[in-house]
Amino acid sequence: MLLFAASIFTGINAQTEAVVENTRAIEFPDIPGYVTLKCDLHMHTVLSDGNVWPNIRVQEAVKDGLDAISITDHIEYQPYKNDIPHPDRNRSYELALKAAKGSELLIIPGTEITRSMPPGHLNAIFVKDVNKLQQDDVMEVLREAKRQGAFVFWNHPHWTAQKPDGVATLTDMHMELLEEGLFAGIEIYNDNTYSVEALEIAQKYDLTLMGNSDVHSLVDWVYKVPEGGHRPVTLVFAKEKTAASMQKAMENRQTAVWFKNTLVGEQRFLAPLIEGSLELTRIGQGQVPKLLIHNHSDADYVLENISDYKLHNFAPVFTLKAHESTTVMVKTLETLESFDLKFRVLNAFINPEKHPEIKFTVE
Ligand SMILES: [Zn+2]
Ligand SMILES: [Zn+2]
Repeated sequence: MLLFAASIFTGINAQTEAVVENTRAIEFPDIPGYVTLKCDLHMHTVLSDGNVWPNIRVQEAVKDGLDAISITDHIEYQPYKNDIPHPDRNRSYELALKAAKGSELLIIPGTEITRSMPPGHLNAIFVKDVNKLQQDDVMEVLREAKRQGAFVFWNHPHWTAQKPDGVATLTDMHMELLEEGLFAGIEIYNDNTYSVEALEIAQKYDLTLMGNSDVHSLVDWVYKVPEGGHRPVTLVFAKEKTAASMQKAMENRQTAVWFKNTLVGEQRFLAPLIEGSLELTRIGQGQVPKLLIHNHSDADYVLENISDYKLHNFAPVFTLKAHESTTVMVKTLETLESFDLKFRVLNAFINPEKHPEIKFTVE
């Protein structure tokens, strides 16, 4: 068991000493001024209604190359309590913390406040003591979370079990919570579902964009990881990789969401993230110069050419596949020392309908 854990953390197979390449790790570059933290801040274990022990969540996250997770077991929903008594609600955090020892993974203490709509379900992360959140009045629970300095976000506001039409909608109670500063983020993506209405709410009320797995069984099964799939993550653009810096970044809405080969976030983060993923090398001169573009990220970027020049080997819309190099030929019509290229990124969104734009100067 120990050997198994060690091999996951180091990527070294203990028997052969061969370095095993971790091809499933989720990869995005840092951006100027910030580190890009890949985070899944909503998941369950047998300490509420999940199917695994907390150490499995840690091992999955290490395999996925995540920087931070929060195990957010339900406070009010404890279907296994007769089999697994659970008097201390900080245990999933403590067990995960122990399991993550020796790895680079940050474990953020968290829990899911689990109520009928309104207000529905909310995650409180960076909490100090989950036990103190066991109270009847949800307003008092959220006030206690605030006293503990937690970051609170509204989970799956579009969940059809609580909102049959799947349309995220703020109620009077949510407006009260917002006025009192009792939540600051919203999931626009949960499990396998996207809510464009949640994105609209986030933009209207300055809420932090969140996207999380809410996994109950195994990440590999739900997201078909062996077939090349990936879990949804919240990308947090933090000054440094610490819990405090991460929380500050979330409070400042410095996040984007990555799911199903789609990025959602503000232009100020998506543009440098995508530009930083792509490395351009000029390999030809003349009137149709050739470029090699290497995509260092996990996203297959679907680009629309909006440059002043047409492309010689692609229609205006083409794809730069993840971790591959693509040759792009540009009709500059005359031999140029340097020229600019501009693209619209069609699998990324800066609001419900608008795509970010990126720009490169080719020397
Ligand atoms: Zn929930
Ligand atoms: Zn949940």
